[in-house]
Amino acid sequence: MIIDTHIHVWSYPALADARDHIKSTKDLVSFRSRCPDLYDRTLTEDPIDNSDQLIADMDEFGIDRAFVQARPGSVTNDQVALSVERHPDRLYGLMRIGHDQEAAYEYLEDPAPVRDGAADEVAHCIEDLGMIGLGEIFIRAMTAEVDPEKIAKDLVPMMDAVNHYKVPVQFPTAWSQFPGGLFYGHPVWADEVAARYPDVPIILTKMGRSLITYFEPCMAVGMRNENVYFDVVGTNADHLRQALDLLGSERIMFGSDWSATWSCVREPAPLYTMRLKVLEDAGCTEEERENILWRNAARLFKLNDIAN
Ligand SMILES: [Zn+2]
Repeated sequence: MIIDTHIHVWSYPALADARDHIKSTKDLVSFRSRCPDLYDRTLTEDPIDNSDQLIADMDEFGIDRAFVQARPGSVTNDQVALSVERHPDRLYGLMRIGHDQEAAYEYLEDPAPVRDGAADEVAHCIEDLGMIGLGEIFIRAMTAEVDPEKIAKDLVPMMDAVNHYKVPVQFPTAWSQFPGGLFYGHPVWADEVAARYPDVPIILTKMGRSLITYFEPCMAVGMRNENVYFDVVGTNADHLRQALDLLGSERIMFGSDWSATWSCVREPAPLYTMRLKVLEDAGCTEEERENILWRNAARLFKLNDIAN
């Protein structure tokens, strides 16, 4: 059994040709600056559902189930719910907030309206759309603060709602391919949020993305807060082994970051082959593999049919 906890669905017509421009991770990181015309088209085009392509890739690489969330831009949570509706045996939905700002070139100077609307969106996604948690919340969409205590205060409307439903929430770490906000990829601020909401599972995605500067605060926050978890997107075998030895295998989940752009990566190997190889190279035991590949996700997200 393999559950991929980290996928971004929906695409844009402009990205149909992305395959010609993205072969490796390095190509992907620089895609926006190398192909500004294609990137800018994604800011105005209507999004299209690419979940059939996702299911085809899952079948090819032996991925049983997946948690899907919107890619940055104008994709709505309601659209993501439609993908889940089309593949109810394979997909579960995660909601996002403020990911439209993440794709555009500037964040709101005063993000109060987004912050104040967060509680209603959480309730809508969980109660009306049947979503099982929050996908990557890039917090600059809700705060312009740089002090951890002030950041935590700005996240109160969203986190109080999350705490009410006791669902997991993902916060991304390190870099992204999208403009601006790099400051918030350093996860030391998440310590403050995790401490204030001990019953909410907080998933720091990408575990610092193989960069020591981000990996070390990930571990510090993880050691201090039992409710902090990680996914393996972009990490390397050395960091995965360190995290396993430090925190244990109950705190780490499998994820690919599959998306319209990431699914183009095929050097040095296809995306899923690359992500799964990290577990092999880290010398995971059978128990560690099972915990990472599905047990932790099934337990945390309460997938009752497979949780035991
Ligand atoms: Zn992601």
